[in-house]
Parts: sequence; structure tokens; C-alpha cells
Amino acid sequence: MKKLQLYNSFSNSLEDFVPLDESNIRIYVCGPTVYASPHVGNARPLVIFDILFRLLRELYPKVTYVRNITDVDDKINAKARDRKISIGELTNEVIEEFHKNTALLNVLPVTYEPRATAHIAEMLEIIQKLIDNDFVYESQGHVLFRVRKMPNYGMLSKRNLDDMIAGSRVEIAPYKEDPMDFVLWKPSEEGMPAWNSPWGKGRPGWHIECSAMSRKYLGEQFDIHAGGQDLMFPHHENELAQNFGAFGCIMANYWIHNGMLLVNGQKMSKSLGNIISLDDALRRHDGEIVRYILLSSHYTKTLDWTDKLVAQAKHSLNRLYGALKKGDIKIAGVVENSDNPVLEALCSNLNTPLALHTLHEIADTIYKSTSSDEINELSGQLKNGAALLGLLSKECEEWFRQESKLISEEDIERLIAERKLAKAEKDFRRADEIREKLLEKGIKIEDTSTGTIWRNV
Ligand SMILES: [Zn+2]
Repeated sequence: MKKLQLYNSFSNSLEDFVPLDESNIRIYVCGPTVYASPHVGNARPLVIFDILFRLLRELYPKVTYVRNITDVDDKINAKARDRKISIGELTNEVIEEFHKNTALLNVLPVTYEPRATAHIAEMLEIIQKLIDNDFVYESQGHVLFRVRKMPNYGMLSKRNLDDMIAGSRVEIAPYKEDPMDFVLWKPSEEGMPAWNSPWGKGRPGWHIECSAMSRKYLGEQFDIHAGGQDLMFPHHENELAQNFGAFGCIMANYWIHNGMLLVNGQKMSKSLGNIISLDDALRRHDGEIVRYILLSSHYTKTLDWTDKLVAQAKHSLNRLYGALKKGDIKIAGVVENSDNPVLEALCSNLNTPLALHTLHEIADTIYKSTSSDEINELSGQLKNGAALLGLLSKECEEWFRQESKLISEEDIERLIAERKLAKAEKDFRRADEIREKLLEKGIKIEDTSTGTIWRNV
């Protein structure tokens, strides 16, 4: 079997992956908080850990992959209030869109997708264990974790408690013994979702849900806990502390974190107006293009989303599909994965840029080759390697047909200007032709008092 190496944030080093139980690999990834459409940065862990899931399935007989849904949160309450809809309506709508988008990204369904609100009893059970073990205290309807009780608190994110307080981005609250203590349970605001508990009606803090759901589906100790780098502190650190307090063990052996995503070198923010929603990206580009972009940088590094990168990804996929088209996949030989260079690259700490590079090398040989036997064999290798990356999943004809339907924004604007001119010259036939042509490309135009606007249909 190929040796898998992963960068473990816990030890800050590259380690050989040694499973707890080779017959069932267990992995937990923190999933979305469902209050609004996610941005493209949120799609990075979805795709990266989908690659890890595909790879583990290739290497081991069974993989249990849990990715939760956070459906209780202040942001959800605020958004539902703003939109004047119920919390249930909002969360169901966002979850439905999330599923649609993960399918477009060719992300495989996970084994379990538990929702926080369906696991309140399991959370209360862990809180009770923490009370029994004297790791928590109750204050003004809140139950708080006493971080000073946790030996080496900060061991995952490599932070020292006193430095954290000196850095003082911590919430000082009258009900806390220490500013670093974090909430496990708190009272709910009037009219907001609330559950019965021994400490009165209330709701869980954020971190406790992942401890409860990972324990229920994977046990108190499992192989891999993963998520975005921004989750390492405080979320993962606090999950780790809770589990240690309740069960006396470190919950996961490997902690894997993906780097952040920038847009044109800047962090996405409302004030900069540079947020690219995933929904928008998937309306403009095929899911495989978005997926390719997200795999183009190594997962531990920051990824910079630029127009150039989008164009490169599109060009690269056209090139790979073009090579595939040259061969006859139906008669391509069966390729053993042991000879798969993509597998090799992924086993080396999920080196997706190298994996993509190997696909291009195969494509290069296909383009140069004149032997149909060789071309067919290499096409099989290309398709097989790409499958591990969740790419080249479409029929070539379908890919190029949809590509030919795509139209650039400059071309849309040019045609709108041409139509305006045709109308001014009273050439209504030409104007209608242009409207039809755009519609064929999936673009609907509308004349308004301030000019012609367009949208995707
Ligand atoms: Zn989590």
C-alpha cells in the first residue's frame, strides 16, 4: 500500500498517516453555518477534504466522513429576522443551496451530515460529564469551560494563555471567572430558539456541537479532524479541551487545516465589496473550473483568486478534455491505480498542484503521439488520474458543447451596444436577432429607463 503523509497541525510536522483502525478510517470536518450563501473561500475546505476522502477511499476499505451543519447561531437568528422569515425556512433554503453547489463542485456526499439542533441531548450529556469532572462552572444561566483547568490549553494553536489575554481580543463578560473561559450553554434571547436544560431554557455555544456530533458518529477518538485555518483557534482548540475534560483523551490524531483564500491579493470583505459568492462563481463558471482553481495551490498555502487564475483553469481544462477527446475512452485499457501518478502526488500531503501537473504531462504525450494504441492507453490514465481529483467527469462532447455556449462579458456588452445602434437605425430585425442570440447563450436582456441590463437565465 502507498504510504500517505499528511501535515499535522498538532505536531507542526509532516507525519506518516497511521490509522486507529485500518478497517474504518474516521474523519470529521467542520461544516457550514447556514445563514447565507457561502463565498468561494468556504468552498476550499469542501473540495480539499473531498480529495482527502477520495484518496482515503482508494487506500482503505472503509472511510466514515462526517461534516456537520451548524444550524443554531446568532447570525442565523439575525438573518431570519432581517428577511422576516422563520429560522427553519432560512436554514432549509441555505442547506438546499449548499447541496446544489456541492454537487456542482463534484464534491461526493459525506457519510453523515448531522445538524446541531438535532444533537442537543448529546451536547447536554458532554456538559454533564464536564461538570462531573470539574472542568466547568455555572454563572448567571451560563455554563462555562474553565480554561485554566485544562493542562496545556493552546497546545493545538501553539498559544500561551497569558499571551492570549495580553493580546486581549477576548470577550470580557461579568459572568466569566477568566476572560478566556468559553461558553458551553447560555440563555436564549426572547423569542429565539431555546431548549430545556438543567440550567434553564437556553442554547448551546458553538464549540460543543462538534464535540457532540463527532463523538456520536466517530467515537471519542478518531483519525482526522479538519477544517479551515481560521477554525484552529478558538474553535478546534476548544473542542479539543472539551473532549479532554470529558473523556480524558485528545479527540483526533491528525489535525489538518487548509489555508485561506484571497481575491486579487486581498481578504474578502463587505467594506471592500470584493466578496465572490460561491453561487455567483458557479453561475458564471462550470463547477469543474471552480474546482480546478481551488486545487491549483497547495492546500496549506494561501490561494489568490484572480481573473487570470480563472482563465488559466478554463484553458487547462479545455486542454485536458481536448487530449481525452483524441483517444477512445471506451477502448482504453484498465489502469491500475498503483501506477497512477496522481495517487502518488496526493499521498505526498495532498499535493494537488503536482497532481494537476502530472495530468498535463500525460496530455502532452497524447497531443504528441501518433499511435492510437498509445493514445488510448494514456487517455485511460488521464481519466483515471483525474477521477481521483474529481475532474474530467463529463463527456468530452458535453464539455465542449457547454464551452461553446459560454460568452464573455465583453462580448455581451459589445452585442448590447450593437443592438442599441441597430434600434437607433430602426433595424429592428437585427436588434431582435441579437436578443435571440444572447438568449441562446443563456443571457436575458431587459431595457430599463437607465439602459439595457442583462442577467444569466
Ligand atoms: Zn466544528
